[in-house]
Amino acid sequence: MRIDIITVLPELIESPLNHSIVKRAKDKNLVEIIVHNLRDYSTDKHKRVDDYAFSGDAGMVMMVEPIFRAINDLKSQRTYDEIIYTSPDGKMLNQQRSNYLSTLKNIIILCGHYKGIDQRVRDNLITMEISIGDYVLSGGELAAAVITDSIVRLIPGALGDETSALTDSFQDNLLAPPVYTRPAEFNGWKVPEILLSGNDALIEKWKFEQSMERTKRLRPELLDEWGED
Ligand code: SAH
Repeated sequence: MRIDIITVLPELIESPLNHSIVKRAKDKNLVEIIVHNLRDYSTDKHKRVDDYAFSGDAGMVMMVEPIFRAINDLKSQRTYDEIIYTSPDGKMLNQQRSNYLSTLKNIIILCGHYKGIDQRVRDNLITMEISIGDYVLSGGELAAAVITDSIVRLIPGALGDETSALTDSFQDNLLAPPVYTRPAEFNGWKVPEILLSGNDALIEKWKFEQSMERTKRLRPELLDEWGED
């Protein structure tokens, strides 16, 4: 998989994508992540990529032309499955969307800044708009990092134990059960007896019951989504 990220602040996105699982996936050539500085596509002598809003509102708007040039340059080299804009009014990122995105070959993620981007980019170049939550960030870089991390860990081979992504929360609309490690007793706090029993079938049953109980208590609405696509 290849992920191209277009931003005015490459430094902001590089660090989160150079550690842990994402770094390992890059080292194993499971994913290629290329960060592009939008200013490189500006024809302006000061490398400007933003201008005043026609509406007269305070705050700058990212201009069409540099974004058009950046996206077209990438599209001339390969076919993209999705061209994503990070936006607070986009579709909310969830595990299903991450699952879908992890199956694609090439995607672009465009990070907004300032007041946002000229609407004509959204109308003509973007195929998908994603929000990471109902709050406003200063720029799309952290959102792009969140989206990328959630996708990359789903690529087969990215996680050490390949099945472990399947047992994470939200797969099957269930929250993950509690987890424990050694010691079996600390400060008088005990690990549930059943986990020490060595009986795999009973442990599986316990985990499912715990997932159900946790989901009912913390996120009951997830259970309503069972059976939906
Ligand atoms: N004026 C815009 C917000 C601009 S914030 C509005 O009210 O909708 C600047 C940029 O940060 C946006 O263009 C977007 O790319 C990014 N951003 C802000 N909040 C975000 C969120 N919740 N999810 C994804 N991207 C976000």
